Amino acid sequence: MTERLDPGAAIGILGGGQLGRMLSVAAARLGLRTHIYDPGANPPAGHVAEKVTTAPWDDAEALTAFARSVDVITYEFENIPTATLDLLESLRPVRPNRRALAISQDRLTEKDFLTGLGLRTAPYRDVPDMAALSAALAEFGAPAILKTRRLGYDGKGQARIMEPAQAEAALAEMGGAEAIFEGFVTFSHEVSVIAARGTTGEVACFDPGENVHEAGILRTTTVPARLTQSQRMDAVLLAGKILNALDYVGVMGVELFVTAQGLIVNEIAPRVHNSGHWTQAGCAVDQFEQHIRAVAGWPLGNGQRYADVVMENLIGDDVTRVTDLSRQPDTQIHLYGKGAPRPGRKMGHVNRITHG
Ligand code: AMP
Repeated sequence: MTERLDPGAAIGILGGGQLGRMLSVAAARLGLRTHIYDPGANPPAGHVAEKVTTAPWDDAEALTAFARSVDVITYEFENIPTATLDLLESLRPVRPNRRALAISQDRLTEKDFLTGLGLRTAPYRDVPDMAALSAALAEFGAPAILKTRRLGYDGKGQARIMEPAQAEAALAEMGGAEAIFEGFVTFSHEVSVIAARGTTGEVACFDPGENVHEAGILRTTTVPARLTQSQRMDAVLLAGKILNALDYVGVMGVELFVTAQGLIVNEIAPRVHNSGHWTQAGCAVDQFEQHIRAVAGWPLGNGQRYADVVMENLIGDDVTRVTDLSRQPDTQIHLYGKGAPRPGRKMGHVNRITHG
């Protein structure tokens, strides 16, 4: 494979949700084709991609045909089984690389990696059993949060421990899955940095956005975030440090807690990120084009922000507001082409330019 994909080349995307959909649109604008692989029928990305394979993650034949039909493979979610990756990697480059994926698949490995880089995280302990949980509570006290090490998203697989008496019930809530204990971080607000790194090692970060979650799901992202100049600099530098340490290629989302003592890393996502959707209205090159540029071996675009933007997710029935929203001329509407709205289901988002 040539290092830099020419227009007409194909990018394979594992996962066909809204992120895969917006990646496909960005690729098409650059003259690149996309091929989506998703176990679910009729994935939202399939509507805008050249090809779709609907097959399970362990279908070696389908995976092989998929890999052979593309020049490079990327993904829109981090829970890809290791065996799937083994097979795909033997056929085509997978970007971002395996280490980034492995680290972010497990909250414990992720925290070990981050603290190993000298970055700050919530205090944490591996809690394989009740004895370990009791010891962690004795060490750090309540309140605390118990999280499954793997497969958690949008606040799922988490239990809060407000007082030690709730510890046993919290552990039971993990349903036998391996869990990590996190001390409660007192933060004033949450921000995230969307950062990109190219095949030549160049790094470009978007301006940090300020995130508001409701019931564990991102509700809004606002740029600029409330940060001092030095916090803004810290956020961008720490994101660059993470990308360089992983020899990363692509876009990554780095979620941070802002505290009186500085920035604390909550988690990293080795993919384009919901809190980066504002870049579609605020930057010449958005996070989706940036990711495609990176994995295609192109130079990165300029991530400079030229507008103030509020991104709002349309979750569940919010999508019924679209007719009203369409009457607001400064509201950029993105719908994901999903079927019936269900509570908690991300149906679309809007970007409002609040100051151009
Ligand atoms: P996560 O799935 O880890 O991103 O957690 C979802 C949300 O729960 C975060 O965005 C925070 O609002 C909150 N949260 C997670 N971990 C902690 C923590 N250690 N201390 C305080 N709040 C947390």
